[in-house]
Amino acid sequence: MCWACKGPMQQGVLICPTCDAVSNCFTFDFFTLLGMDMVYNVDLKKLDDQYLKLQKLLHPDNYVQVSSREQLYAAQQSARINDAYETLKDDVDRALCLISMADHAAGKTSDALEGVALAPDDLELQFSLRELLQNGADAATLLKDVVKMMKTCVKKLQKDFVESDITQAKQDTMKLKFLKVLEKDIHAQMA
Ligand SMILES: [Zn+2]
Repeated sequence: MCWACKGPMQQGVLICPTCDAVSNCFTFDFFTLLGMDMVYNVDLKKLDDQYLKLQKLLHPDNYVQVSSREQLYAAQQSARINDAYETLKDDVDRALCLISMADHAAGKTSDALEGVALAPDDLELQFSLRELLQNGADAATLLKDVVKMMKTCVKKLQKDFVESDITQAKQDTMKLKFLKVLEKDIHAQMA
């Protein structure tokens, strides 16, 4: 229900179709908020388009004439849309978001990766890549390898989520996380 006109308002709708008031519901998940399908393999072009469309809609210039209450709602929705966009754009954060939603649906309240350790093979890989970096291996070559591994890992995650294999998705998210940190460290070494 709309707080302003008490008219009907469907779940996930940001603007009241009757009176144009901004919704004061801040519990939509990030996919619903941005009007995206709830999948790991998101359409990044659509994500950009949706983000820009919604931020234009909620721009403060459009809310000069309204009550301070509605201005506040518009600002809060806008801030949440920023959060949602940054989260869904990022390969690791998007995975964590889906994992949390799946855990929540299954009645679990723990943090997405709580109690999850790197798989032994991944731990071994992390050691050997770190060793290469420390021992002065060619950073550009190493970076190329790591970027390739990240792409493979993202593809694996797409498969995990399609198959609703959340346990495996957690493992692969851990792997992607360490690869991302490593990528950053290689860049730092190259700078
Ligand atoms: Zn309304």
